[in-house]
Amino acid sequence: MLTLHLTCDYEVFGNGSGDVRTCVVEPSDKMAEICETFDTPMTFFVEVCEIWAFEDIEKQGLFSSGYTPATWLKDQLRNFIRRGHDVQLHLHPQWLEYTFHSDQKWTLNYDLWRLPDLEHLPGYGRDYLKDLITRGKKWLEDLLRPIDPNYHCRSFRTGAWCIQPEENVLEVLRSASITKDSTLAPGFIFDDGLTKVDFSQGEYSEVPYYPGATLRDQISDSSLLEIPIHTSRLSSIELAYYHFLSLRKGLRNNARSCSGSPVSRGRKKGGILSKLQRELKPQYKMLDFCGKNSFELMRRLTLSKIKSASGQDLPLVAIGHPKNFGNPDELKKYLDWCRDHSAIRLPSLKSGSFWQS
Ligand SMILES: [Zn+2]
Repeated sequence: MLTLHLTCDYEVFGNGSGDVRTCVVEPSDKMAEICETFDTPMTFFVEVCEIWAFEDIEKQGLFSSGYTPATWLKDQLRNFIRRGHDVQLHLHPQWLEYTFHSDQKWTLNYDLWRLPDLEHLPGYGRDYLKDLITRGKKWLEDLLRPIDPNYHCRSFRTGAWCIQPEENVLEVLRSASITKDSTLAPGFIFDDGLTKVDFSQGEYSEVPYYPGATLRDQISDSSLLEIPIHTSRLSSIELAYYHFLSLRKGLRNNARSCSGSPVSRGRKKGGILSKLQRELKPQYKMLDFCGKNSFELMRRLTLSKIKSASGQDLPLVAIGHPKNFGNPDELKKYLDWCRDHSAIRLPSLKSGSFWQS
């Protein structure tokens, strides 16, 4: 039996663009509402570094009149805990050094984009990494314990999946009493000059395990469990079919009224043909309920997990981003299908948190 764990990374775009109301608050609320109709929780992996920056600017009174993003986000997170959803830790360190220009215009330090790089940067280092994770965890616990005295932040996902080289990050997570990491997406490879991820096929476990020194090593026991995001490899024909299907259904990449720009250091070169070639090259896709992913694609990815699990009890981790939650009906159809499938279980809002134990 597979237990579906819906997770999303709660944040604006990586360069600070995107209105917090239309890109985070409203789509997150919509996600939570849909989950509640199925009596199942959403886990919000909260990017705390940007909320710290929002708090500073809010205190200084520099946002436009009526724009109070830190207040909105903190209120919403408390509300989610009250309603039985979950909140865990996510970090995008580029926000640690920012220059504020206007509500949605910031200059962030992209040298800090990849969490493991902090260890080698002047003024940072390994102790800083540990302090940062401890500070993020404590900040969430201080925010949410007045609502739920038993609340714990014990799970983590690295910003933009940039955990490699992971040796020190894993050690720091263990020493900061983080018990679950959900960064690994087996088979997923991405490099745009800024985000660099290589979870090459066959080298990483697709089921939960205790990582050793690196995510490629498994040990029999440890205080940190890796819970991979579900991925499956799609052929060129499948990729073309799902691409066509999302066009035919008119699926949107962003949440309603949300606009912003993703960051990339070295934009991929070439025309439409090379873009198409790249997109149709056989590759691993994450089980993502946002962006232009149709219900049919989510179903295809889930069926492959049912097959490989062959009856074992395993978590099925899905990922999304509120800013890309443009097609709520696709998630509804998917949850409907999951609820009726005998091999899938939806945890209840009252069943206690998987990520807090
Ligand atoms: Zn993120």
